[in-house]
Amino acid sequence: MTEFKVGRVLLSRLDHGEEMVAQIVDLAEKNDIRTGVFTIIGALCRAELAFYDQAAHRYQTIKVDRPAEIVSCIGNISMRDERPFVHAHATLSDSLGNVVGGHLSSGTVFAAEIFLQELSGEPLIRRHDPITDLYLWSNS
Ligand code: ZN
Repeated sequence: MTEFKVGRVLLSRLDHGEEMVAQIVDLAEKNDIRTGVFTIIGALCRAELAFYDQAAHRYQTIKVDRPAEIVSCIGNISMRDERPFVHAHATLSDSLGNVVGGHLSSGTVFAAEIFLQELSGEPLIRRHDPITDLYLWSNS
């Protein structure tokens, strides 16, 4: 476990037509946020979600090639290879309200609003974990 103090709280609109995960990384870098948590609501033009196959140690891609509401997107920011790294999961809905969800690999923003909470303290660092083959927090 790592304990943090609550830092700055940022609300920001994400840019139309731009990739969402990269924008979160940019926001973190520009504001020198090394550890944080966020939520996003809005809509995407398209997205790529993923499911981690725990036996094969690989992500299976779930393509969402249509406009979708971001019903919920939650995630965190920590450091990997000296850069802020975003881990996010999203639930997206279509025009009938049907939902699909998973690990968020990428998404093109239609309109989106992020609530980003900085956590101050020794930054969390991701390192490769041989058991899961994922990059997990090494100092927690
Ligand atoms: Zn994930």
